[in-house]
Amino acid sequence: GSGLFGAVLAHELKHKHKTVLVVEKRGNVGGNIYTENIIGIHVHMYGAHIFHTNSKTAWDYANRFAVFNRYTNSPIANYKGEIYSLPFSMYTFNKMWGVVTPEQAKAKIEEQRRESGITEPRNLEEQAISLVGRDIYERLIKDYTEKQWGRPCRELPAFIIRRLPVRFTYDNNYFNALYQGIPVDGFTSIIDKLLEGCDVRLNCDYCTNRGELEGLAEKIIFTGPIDEYFNYELGALEYRTLRFENEIMTDTNNFQGNAVVNYTDRNTPYMRIIEHKHFYPGLETSGTVITREYSSEWKLGDEPIYPVNDDRNNSLYEEYRKLAAVRCPDVIFGGRLGEYKYYDMDQVILRALEVSAQIL
Ligand code: UDP
Repeated sequence: GSGLFGAVLAHELKHKHKTVLVVEKRGNVGGNIYTENIIGIHVHMYGAHIFHTNSKTAWDYANRFAVFNRYTNSPIANYKGEIYSLPFSMYTFNKMWGVVTPEQAKAKIEEQRRESGITEPRNLEEQAISLVGRDIYERLIKDYTEKQWGRPCRELPAFIIRRLPVRFTYDNNYFNALYQGIPVDGFTSIIDKLLEGCDVRLNCDYCTNRGELEGLAEKIIFTGPIDEYFNYELGALEYRTLRFENEIMTDTNNFQGNAVVNYTDRNTPYMRIIEHKHFYPGLETSGTVITREYSSEWKLGDEPIYPVNDDRNNSLYEEYRKLAAVRCPDVIFGGRLGEYKYYDMDQVILRALEVSAQIL
């Protein structure tokens, strides 16, 4: 696989004089960070990616392969036509309740948490209410999350909502990260540089060409879904998939004034609209490209995008790992799909560097 995990590993191994063949199912490299130039804008074709990290190692590594811009993610939520600032900050609390100081916001949240009787949050709903109160949960979290995951918030793990900062300052940077940005030439340019000097075979599905491919390599790194590798013999892991509806607009060059607008009500069928040009501050374009993202349950033939890390799936994944350890101890499973983990890009880089060190 030529996504970020596979590409970093390929680069590292190539660099240490290994011969590397990258086998990619799709017709292009890059996995889900793949970007394509459309009317002069690097469009994220499998969902918006914003590189952010606290790790100097990951940041320095990524910067060897790209020039990053200074993009700071500040999405907004559109709830029935009303706009709220994300992540949850003093801007959000002010808009929701008219509170002005951090103390007033904290008091409001505490009052709503107490009314709900939550002490130890056991799921996403309880975690959200105890972090930001019931009003924000109901308008900005509940329906959006249920659209994204297709499951009630009470059945989802609390860690998903802890990805988002809650701030008692007027700071609407979506990430608590020391470093943040987007490669000015698009994410695919990073992958192209990482893969320089490696053989790449596109449009080749490892699982259907296993007979021929297995014999070629001393070491196999598999970055597809681990359950697919074993032909789903212990049952299928669940994933969410996204459908992307791209629209090129020539009658405006600023459709929504922001890169990311989340639609947090139940009735809007899509989760969010991405306007890609705003990922590149100052980019002059004639026209703009927007993408509506629809989330649904993954089924065979769809692109798996998000692992659904609930208890059932996590224990099934553990069963697959045990199976792998017995049946193919030399195969390395990595990346979001191989490890069934809701990884961010910096974590993928760090993990790939760790794995390459182990191999070498
Ligand atoms: N979330 C939400 N409302 C929003 C944005 C995010 O409730 O407007 C919650 C939702 O549960 C989501 C989680 O926060 O699954 C993590 O969001 P993130 O932006 O990290 O998701 P990703 O960018 O990976 O799609």
